[in-house]
Amino acid sequence: MKRETKCIQAGYEPKNGESRMIPIIQSTTFKYDTSEDMGKLFDLEASGYFYTRLQNPTNDFVAAKIAALEGGTAAMLTSSGQAANFFSIFNIASQGDHIVSSSMIYGGTFNLFNVTMKKMGIDFTFVSPDCTDEELEAAFRPETKAVFGETIANPAVSVLDIERFADAAHAHGVPLIIDNTFATPIFCRPFEWGCDIVTHSTTKYMDGHDAAVGGCIVDSGKFDWMAHKDKFPGLTTPDESYHGITYAEKFGMEGAFITKATAQLMRDFGSIQAPMNAFFLNLGLETLDVRMRRHVANAQKVAEFLEKHPNVAWIDYPGLPGNKYYDLAQKYMPEGTCGVISFGVKGGRSAAEEFMKHLKVAMIATHVADAHTCILHPANSTHRQLSDEELIASGVGPDLVRLSVGIENVEDIIEDLEQALSYI
Ligand SMILES: *Cc1c(COP(=O)(O)O)cnc(C)c1O
Repeated sequence: MKRETKCIQAGYEPKNGESRMIPIIQSTTFKYDTSEDMGKLFDLEASGYFYTRLQNPTNDFVAAKIAALEGGTAAMLTSSGQAANFFSIFNIASQGDHIVSSSMIYGGTFNLFNVTMKKMGIDFTFVSPDCTDEELEAAFRPETKAVFGETIANPAVSVLDIERFADAAHAHGVPLIIDNTFATPIFCRPFEWGCDIVTHSTTKYMDGHDAAVGGCIVDSGKFDWMAHKDKFPGLTTPDESYHGITYAEKFGMEGAFITKATAQLMRDFGSIQAPMNAFFLNLGLETLDVRMRRHVANAQKVAEFLEKHPNVAWIDYPGLPGNKYYDLAQKYMPEGTCGVISFGVKGGRSAAEEFMKHLKVAMIATHVADAHTCILHPANSTHRQLSDEELIASGVGPDLVRLSVGIENVEDIIEDLEQALSYI
């Protein structure tokens, strides 16, 4: 199946007389004839459902669709993108371990790594996605367990050189984990470039309608855990909390990572996506290809308009030929990048405030990557507590505006920006 067809049909094949749409299995538990039958499920001897905190059929249909879109072998849904990124690391790292991460990542992920996971005893070294090979090499330690980055970073819209980061990770016997939220598998399949694990905040383009918070983890099935047995004891030695199962032996390269994350992390942390939300996510996935192409076509026109506007000081959009990441974007995402644009208005913080006050189509919202055009002024919202000097130091200047171009008529979006820019 081609991608457009997978968006509609992958993951769920109704049998004769069954519902054509993915059923919402709104049930916490599942019934069995004998305790023996159920015992086999608990021992992971047989596959089946027993409690929705671990697995639910609706979620599994949708996860299988995302796995097909990414070209992976197994996937699981989580309650949010935050849970997906946390699980993707915590599944293979514990106290005393270390992770190399791109410094240009979503603020929530940066805080999860730099504050909360550090408290759990996992250390992180942050490197610029533009660092030299020597700087990247110097970030590794003997206890490094993974490398992490975002295909297109939120909100910096920088592009990661996936092959270079994958090569560095593999040279040290560890996987590359990539958050592919902004590009989506429509525009980039990181597994084709050597990435091992992909994560998503499905809250963004995948759901695409501001309807449901969610996340997903997908395994490429390509990382050989057994070849690095000593580094990943959680996968390569018996799990005493699961009847002595060795995940990498029993489920192989294709299934070990997701089975362990389900059996241990979902069991213990319970960050399950509600089946109802998975149903909404599936509706979004059905139109993902169509929507992404409109997002990118609109964003390209908006970026070209902003680039030429006299009241716009600067603009970052990897689809613009002058952009620093244009060549990388062409390599990894030749059909398009995303709908998110960062730009600065002339006149700094107060000019940005004045401009945003007059917008009518673009809505002020702490959100990106959905059907509605929305806009955020970090200096006045998410980064409000920082002074102008601190804002500049954190790479989010006082004039920075993050615009997420939706799928409305692009002339309405441009007209709106034009009239609001005339006030500064
Ligand atoms: C929003 C976002 C997240 C966090 O996802 P939630 O669903 O809000 O928990 C993680 N990574 C990226 C790139 C995001 O944009």
